[in-house]
Amino acid sequence: MVTYDADVLIVGGGLAGLCATISSSSNLSKTMIVTKTLVGAATTTSLAAGVLSAVTPYSDPEDSVERHYQDTMAGGGNINDRVLVKTMVNDIPKYFMRLLELGVEFDGGDVPTTKFIPGHSKPRSYFTKGKGVHLQALLRKICEALSTKFLERTTITSLVREGERVVGAVGYKSDTKEVVTIRSKVTILATGGPGELYPRTLMPIGSSGYGTSLGMKTGAEVVDMEFVQFYPTMVYEDGLPRIFVDYSPLLRYGADVKNAEGESVFKKYKVEEPFKLKRDAFSVMLAKEMIGEGGERPLYLDCTAIKEADIKSNSSLASAVMELESKQVPVRKKKFGISPYAHFFMGGLKTDANGATNVPALYAAGEAVGGIHGANRIGGNAFAACIVFGFRSGMAASLYSSTVDPAGEEIFVETSSLLTEAINFNGTRDAREVKSEIQRIMWEKVGILREKRGMEEGLMALNSLRGAQLASEDPVDKLLVPLMLDTADVITLSAMLREESRGAHYRLDFPEQKEEWQKKISLKLCEGKCEVKYLPP
Ligand SMILES: Cc1cc2nc3c(=O)[nH]c(=O)nc-3n(C[C@H](O)[C@H](O)[C@H](O)COP(=O)(O)OP(=O)(O)OC[C@H]3O[C@@H](n4cnc5c(N)ncnc54)[C@H](O)[C@@H]3O)c2cc1C
Repeated sequence: MVTYDADVLIVGGGLAGLCATISSSSNLSKTMIVTKTLVGAATTTSLAAGVLSAVTPYSDPEDSVERHYQDTMAGGGNINDRVLVKTMVNDIPKYFMRLLELGVEFDGGDVPTTKFIPGHSKPRSYFTKGKGVHLQALLRKICEALSTKFLERTTITSLVREGERVVGAVGYKSDTKEVVTIRSKVTILATGGPGELYPRTLMPIGSSGYGTSLGMKTGAEVVDMEFVQFYPTMVYEDGLPRIFVDYSPLLRYGADVKNAEGESVFKKYKVEEPFKLKRDAFSVMLAKEMIGEGGERPLYLDCTAIKEADIKSNSSLASAVMELESKQVPVRKKKFGISPYAHFFMGGLKTDANGATNVPALYAAGEAVGGIHGANRIGGNAFAACIVFGFRSGMAASLYSSTVDPAGEEIFVETSSLLTEAINFNGTRDAREVKSEIQRIMWEKVGILREKRGMEEGLMALNSLRGAQLASEDPVDKLLVPLMLDTADVITLSAMLREESRGAHYRLDFPEQKEEWQKKISLKLCEGKCEVKYLPP
């Protein structure tokens, strides 16, 4: 067993973790960033389009922070955590300027330009040059220059507490095959979203953002777990790559979505301006069209009516077309198959505006946090939240760390012994098969369209997988299955509780939005039982 010490431990090397690290290291705290893969690699951030929504000195003079707030609340079905939204919209202009100082470049160069994204009433979305991957590489270099300690290829499997307070973490380092313990005065979970819960996702392979489960085991509250955002358009056809389709510019200039009978889905549902469709309503519409008696019915995006002249004169349209063509999708020549996919998790750990959870010395940032986006996130706001709450939590954690002492090493012995046992134990059931089974249950029973009976069956099926005697070549696979089951359970339970449809949560048995559900569901483990609370937004 190898032991490390840090004032501030940050779990996760994506955008939120990197911003938290820069903030904590700049405040001279001894900061360690731990990731399952490499800092800045195989994260959702690295696959992101790099869009950041903010009101800045370069924005339309008629735009305002207040409008950004209103749009975010409306997009989230008005149950977003108001304090977190206020903080995000008020702070992102400052951090946008900070990013420019740090060397981040946006489309438009010296005078960054904005684009329109559905859900925003003004064009206020800035595209970072080189997308998420480039942004991460730059932030990683800054962390290196600040002498941050990197612990890579290390999966955190448990947090450790002394009394109520989180005092560090235990994990497995894949390259050296060692159990590691990290003694920290404060821990920030920036573990991203659990994309791998669903079989159709563009989040990276192994996107196991189970901060929810890690946090809940220490007594942390989670919120809004029922809200999983399915982005409507991923290329989904044999022989073509699974990639993201930026639907808004394509639909604005004449693209259409056709069902299995070749009928226009927009005509069928009487949608006049499909390019303005938000992700939630669009995905629900497509999911309904996919239901078939003998199995799933295909859907197609037909862009053949888009005029060449429009592609030449409109940069958003040109970049959407070229992005697809660069991956061999024959966008100008013929229609191609599409499907919605799991894109983002609105739920996560409940925090205050500085990233503090209800558990002493435990903070969270980025997609691991719930509540900011309410029932549905609008474009570019995930980056805004990662940046604002990444920087804020890093600073708050750094300040907190000066007020406490590290725990003694003996407190880690039991958790690390249990981990060693779990690594050495070899069962008979392939952990990867169990993972696929969880994915199937989540897609079929707790996917885009939900109803009570299906979710009850889903919950029972998930429970039947508990206690499976797992085997895997790479111990990480079997170690993560229990965390995956915890997170799947909490999503299902929250989705069963919310007896209405709102944002990304669509109940076939309760298709209307209801006034009495203008509240948030928060869950917390208390003496082994799940305690449910309803909170005002
Ligand atoms: C295809 C796609 C495009 C997108 N484009 C945009 C966009 O343009 N703009 C926007 O605002 N949003 C976008 N989003 C959403 C946005 O990219 C994410 O919400 C955001 O990048 C999440 O950042 P994060 O730092 O919270 O998590 P991530 O970037 O996912 O990083 C999580 C980190 O945690 C690590 N980790 C997880 N669990 C553990 C563990 N147990 N132990 C150790 N390490 C662990 C991972 O290895 C990883 O390093 C997009 C999403 C997708 C899927």
